[in-house]
Amino acid sequence: MLPPGSWLGCLGGGQLGRMFVHAAQALGYKVLILDPDASGPAAQAADDVIVAAYDDAAAIARFARRVAAVTTEFENVPAATLERLAANLPTRPGAEAVRIAQDRRREKRFFADHGLPVGRFAIIERADDLGRADVGLFPGILKTATLGYDGKGQWRVNSREQALLAWMSVGQPPCVLEALVPFHREISVLVARSRDGAVAVWPVQENEHRDGILARTLVPARLDEGRPEAAQALAARLVAALDYVGVLAVEMFVTADGLLLNEMAPRPHNSGHYTIEACETSQFEQQARILAAAPLGATTLVQSAVMVNVLGDVWFDGEVRREPRFADVLALPGAHLHLYGKAEARRGRKMGHVTCTAPTLTEALATADAVSRALGIPQ
Ligand code: AMP
Repeated sequence: MLPPGSWLGCLGGGQLGRMFVHAAQALGYKVLILDPDASGPAAQAADDVIVAAYDDAAAIARFARRVAAVTTEFENVPAATLERLAANLPTRPGAEAVRIAQDRRREKRFFADHGLPVGRFAIIERADDLGRADVGLFPGILKTATLGYDGKGQWRVNSREQALLAWMSVGQPPCVLEALVPFHREISVLVARSRDGAVAVWPVQENEHRDGILARTLVPARLDEGRPEAAQALAARLVAALDYVGVLAVEMFVTADGLLLNEMAPRPHNSGHYTIEACETSQFEQQARILAAAPLGATTLVQSAVMVNVLGDVWFDGEVRREPRFADVLALPGAHLHLYGKAEARRGRKMGHVTCTAPTLTEALATADAVSRALGIPQ
C-alpha cells in the first residue's frame, strides 16, 4: 500500500474529481489534478493543479514525475495519454477499458462478444449501414459513438427515413442505432475491482431521468425478488471480462424479459454519490483505496437513500436569477447538501446534489420531495 502522504494523480477536474480529492485527503493522501481549467471543482480542493490539455505531452510528463499512481474522473481523456502514463505508473483504470467505454461501437461489441445481455443494435458508419439496418431496430435511438453524455448526441427515430435524415443533418458521425427498449426501470450498479482481482459490488440503485439528465437515484432499487442479485452478478461479470481495476459504473434496463446492459462509465458515477453517506465505503474512497493498493472497503448499505441532483435551473425563476433556498434544505433531518463550487449556474449544468438518508426508502423519498419543493425542482 502506498504510504499516506504519497501523491495521487487525477486526470480531470470536475465534481467527480472534487469528491475523489476529499476522500483521498481523508485517507492522508495528496492529490495533483491535471485539468485545462485552473479553477474547476476539483482544482479548488486539490493539493496542487497542473493546468494543461489532456494531450499536452510535456505537461503529462511533469504530472507523471510527481505522482505515485494515476486515476481519471472523466472518460474522454485520450486513451493514448493513459497508455503513456501506464508505461511508468499504476494507472487505474487502464487505457484499454477506457478506450472501450469511450466509443459506443466498441462498448456494444464488447458486451455482445462476451455474451453479456444487450439490446438490439447496429453500427452506423456509412449511409448503407442505415439502409440495411434491421427493421426491428425501429423505433430506435441513434447515438453518436463518441462524446455523447446526458442525452446529448442522441435522436429518437421512428423509421429508416427519419434516421437517415437525422444522421445526415448532424454531419454523418459514426453512430450506434439501438432499438427502443421497453423498460420498467433504469438501474445502475457500481462495482470495484482491485489489482489482485477482488470484487466489491454496491447495492443496486434505481435512476430517474428528466430531459436525458439523471434527476434522482433511489437506493435500494424497487425490484422484484432476485433481480438485485442478478444485476450485481452481471456487473461483476462485466468487470472481470474487462480485467478492470478501479470503480466502474454499469447502467442497465430492467425489462419484462430480464436485464439489458445500456452503457458503462469507467469511473465513479453521478448515481453513486449516495454512497458517501449511505454506504460503509463511498465510491470515491474506494477509488482512492484502489489507487493506493489498499484493501477494498465494504460496500454495505447502512441506510436507505434518495439522491436529488441540483441543476443550474434552480438558480432561475423564469428569466430572473435567484439564490436557491439552501437553508431550507439544511433544515431537513437526513438531507446532505453537496455543492461543487461552480462559478456560474446554467440550465442543465450539474451544480450539486442532495442525498437524503433515512432508515426506510419511504422516509428518504419524503425528505427528497421536501428538498425538491424547497429548491423548486419539478417532481
Ligand atoms: P444513455 O446516454 O445511453 O445512457 O441514454 C440516456 C437515456 O436515454 C437513458 O438513461 C434512457 O432513459 C434513454 N435511453 C437510452 N437508450 C435507450 C434505449 N435503447 N431504449 C430506451 N431508452 C433509452
